[in-house]
Amino acid sequence: MTTFETVERAEWLADMRLRLRATCDEHNANLVDLAAITPDPSDADAHIALVTATRQALADATEALLRIEDGRYGTCQRCGAAIPAERLDILPHARFCVACQSRR
Ligand SMILES: [Zn+2]
Repeated sequence: MTTFETVERAEWLADMRLRLRATCDEHNANLVDLAAITPDPSDADAHIALVTATRQALADATEALLRIEDGRYGTCQRCGAAIPAERLDILPHARFCVACQSRR
């Protein structure tokens, strides 16, 4: 790997870290808002589903941040292949390459 590529990768990772942190902040704020709401009984299921989905999204983003910190970010957790940057740009918390994701 040349120095240029190393610098580019470091900048790209720093950018992804910022994006994931912003995502975490957003989900945290949403959870605070959701916790402050007492839904109508008719909306209770939808409210629980939204809280669950938001918690899951927060966990996904948090785990992705941890993977950046320990150097596992961008590597498929099933086959060990590099996940293309284009995929991570669209789905920053992706844990699997496209092939493994579609096989799940
Ligand atoms: Zn894979």
